Amino acid sequence: MPKRLALLLLRGAPATGLPSPAQPRAARYWPRLALSLLVALALPLLGVGVGALQARWLLQQRADAVADNAIIKLDRMITNGEMAGKAVELYAGRPCDIGTERVLQRQVATVPYVRSVNLSLRGQLYCTSLLGAVTETIDAAAYTDGRLRLRPGNITTPDVPVLIVRRPVGDAAILSVVDGRYLQTALQLTAQGSELYFRVGASHMDSQGRVGDGPLPPLPHATATRTSAHFPYSVVAGSPDGAVWTYMLEYNLALLVLTAGVGLFGGLLCYRLLGRPSSPRAVLQRALDAGQFEPFVQPIVNADDGVWAGVEVLARWHLPGEGLIRPDLFIPMAEQTGQILPMTRELMRQVAAALAPHVAELPPRFHIGFNISAAHCREPRLLDDCRDFLAAFPPDSVELWLELTERELIEPTDDTDLLFQQLDAIGVKVAIDDFGIGHASLNYLQRFAVDALKIDQSFVKRIGADTLSAHLIDTLAALATKLDIDLVAEGVETAAQRDYLQALNVRYLQGYYFGRPMPVGEFIHAHRHQRAAAETPAQPATSQ
Ligand code: C2E
Ligand code: CA
Ligand code: CA
Repeated sequence: MPKRLALLLLRGAPATGLPSPAQPRAARYWPRLALSLLVALALPLLGVGVGALQARWLLQQRADAVADNAIIKLDRMITNGEMAGKAVELYAGRPCDIGTERVLQRQVATVPYVRSVNLSLRGQLYCTSLLGAVTETIDAAAYTDGRLRLRPGNITTPDVPVLIVRRPVGDAAILSVVDGRYLQTALQLTAQGSELYFRVGASHMDSQGRVGDGPLPPLPHATATRTSAHFPYSVVAGSPDGAVWTYMLEYNLALLVLTAGVGLFGGLLCYRLLGRPSSPRAVLQRALDAGQFEPFVQPIVNADDGVWAGVEVLARWHLPGEGLIRPDLFIPMAEQTGQILPMTRELMRQVAAALAPHVAELPPRFHIGFNISAAHCREPRLLDDCRDFLAAFPPDSVELWLELTERELIEPTDDTDLLFQQLDAIGVKVAIDDFGIGHASLNYLQRFAVDALKIDQSFVKRIGADTLSAHLIDTLAALATKLDIDLVAEGVETAAQRDYLQALNVRYLQGYYFGRPMPVGEFIHAHRHQRAAAETPAQPATSQ
């Protein structure tokens, strides 16, 4: 495993690119994708929501202002019609002679917006500024409040809308005609993008100058209705369907683009963050769930005849994309996070499942050693794990060894005393690992009823090189004999080391000279060969 990766792993949450354990990748992929999409969409949706609210509010403001303005402008125009009528009031009902005609024409010429001024008597139009004397029936009831009438045209200009302002004087009336084109221009200039209607009775005119009867077309958004305080008409301003979107795209495009961009960024960030292992604990848990830890076993041999007497179980991590990871890179992390307990349990389960079917081929009371940490000794469940392990084999066919490293001595308490008594009662053996580099006292060895000492490989390596190591091994051998404790020498790599340790009556040897750590299946094959060649020393194996 690359050193960089190991460092990242040991430091905890890696900054970049630590490949996450792959197995339940599919199971993790969809929630990760779904959450990332949710994040990516949430902000744009919020942006659209806020934008839509703002657009509605602004459209409503605009409609209110448009309606108010329209009333002011239209009142002013209609007042002109009203004034023209008032100015010729004395002529109402008078004969339509040249004098009367002139008076009417003067109003048309002088009063803004007024196209013609006409007189009627008892329902008959009889005098107009444009044509002089005429005869036409007038329907007074068609006038709203008897005062205003909006028409698509009249006899002189059938295609030009007109607003007729009626001023009743006794039996007679004055009809001032306001040109519809002025009304239309006023509506058009006021509308500012809103839909705007001028409504007189059942008739209405839009800002394009079209006059119609009946209900107004629907204005679903931001509608404002105003009624004139002086004349019987009203205006309605509002926005048609889709106006909110059009408005947003026109005025809030920057906000929409910004929120979409930030949403996309957030979604990608979320996807990336969720994809990286969040903590060493999460990394290990996924690896455990994915079954990426595998037990390798290394033979332990009888020093006197070279026969394989047992194995030490050594954890290996198959990290996808990274290959096999050495235990010293992840065991400290597993100890810190507490996952060493389930990990050891899993190794025990796998070893039992793989070795139990072949137990008949193994020597009687075959040793199977597991490395345990201080955390295990605070955990009463260790007893159950050991029981379960032993129960997988026929009674007394194997011996379970627990190796406690001397580098990390466990605190003796009443609970640990009880645990070790119970372990002893079910036949579990205890070995002190890496012996010689820590501070285990005689008292300590006795209190834990230690069955074996494993001489640290640093001393074995120096056999023949310095006298101090040889002296220490000699002393240990004497101590072991005195305490009736077995000795195991680790890290035996040469025949010379083997011979030296054999001569000192060290009972068990372990090291590359006899066999490297290997998968259990490979071990079973190798053991068959070893049995066949029991008399000759084993060749160094090739597994790692
Ligand atoms: P250890 O318990 O002292 O295990 C012996 C280590 O020495 C193993 O390294 C083994 O591969 C290596 N070794 C054996 N023979 C030779 C040899 O002849 N020459 C050399 N140079 N090395 C040899 P490995 O497998 O890398 O394990 C390292 C350490 O990780 C172990 O040291 C043990 O402390 C820890 N470890 C491994 N598996 C587990 C586990 O399942 N639980 C716990 N708590 N610790 C474990
Ligand atoms: Ca060990
Ligand atoms: Ca050791």
